[in-house]
Amino acid sequence: MGKRIVIALGGNALGNNLPEQMVAVKQTARAIVDLIQEGHQVVIAHGNGPQVGMIQKAMTELTRSDPDKYIPCPLSVCVAMSQGYIGYDLQNGLREEMLDRGISKGVATVLTQVEVDPDDPAFRCPTKPIGAFMTREEAERMVAERGYDVIEDAGRGYRRVVASPRPQSIVEIESIRDMVEAGLVVVACGGGGIPVFKTEGHHLKGAAAVIDKDFASCTLAQQLDADCLIILTAVEKVAVHFGKPEQKWLDRLTPDQARIYMGEGHFAPGSMLPKVQAAVQFAESKPGRTALITLLEKAKDGIAGRTGTVISL
Ligand code: ADP
Ligand code: MG
Repeated sequence: MGKRIVIALGGNALGNNLPEQMVAVKQTARAIVDLIQEGHQVVIAHGNGPQVGMIQKAMTELTRSDPDKYIPCPLSVCVAMSQGYIGYDLQNGLREEMLDRGISKGVATVLTQVEVDPDDPAFRCPTKPIGAFMTREEAERMVAERGYDVIEDAGRGYRRVVASPRPQSIVEIESIRDMVEAGLVVVACGGGGIPVFKTEGHHLKGAAAVIDKDFASCTLAQQLDADCLIILTAVEKVAVHFGKPEQKWLDRLTPDQARIYMGEGHFAPGSMLPKVQAAVQFAESKPGRTALITLLEKAKDGIAGRTGTVISL
């Protein structure tokens, strides 16, 4: 029977620039349509690191070119632009691959806002570098004029840093659910979603922050009552002693075992650690929910139980 699956696409699913993305999306679409063809309901979330970086850099150059004419573009707007650009490519890639296989299904991208907590401890120590490098003078001006947090990045210049708070809830969840139930293939929560705060009345204010796409995908999967969260990345399985001679690939991982390995520092922060944390959170959120971490090309084999690391109770 078909499952409801939330797929989180990693950086390798989209490439690092425009031509790479065009090529990568073809392969990504094949992997996703393999699951659709087997009768699964698929919802797609994705990262946006290189894309939002490119947009942010372009917008910064625009402001630099004529500061009286162009005001700086908020990060939340850059994330929205990246969702639109990536959604455009994914919609077309999926459309083409489905039509080639005789599948007739609509694909839609939802520009997704994700609520974050203004009291999230992450806001007290922003750690995520974003955007172009700045000179010391530019950095000092940004701190004074815009209240940015900046760090010196390993001698290469200064960069703005923002917080990476945990996602609380997805603003457009009802629309996403309706579209999934109507049989559409939905792309949502791109780049972890556009982070927003609730303010007075019904107003939502964009936050200068980025949400980890692995955590946002977990929230999406929970809020959609998905059966499975599949995190597709650049490795086929999760390992302990990763990259060391005693490295061991894991076929299965329980939340308790994962916590022991996390405590021992087996998963790199910022890459594998958020995936394992998101997988554990999803697996523990309701009986029967499973998470799978595997290689993009192995999605079909993974869901059939032939490869990948399965995280379940
Ligand atoms: P994505 O863009 O898919 O989020 P990341 O680079 O953030 O990809 O995270 C995946 C990477 O994490 C893998 O390609 C691998 O190099 C690295 N990694 C770190 N620790 C581990 C581990 N214990 N097991 C497997 N991969 C690991
Ligand atoms: Mg990552």
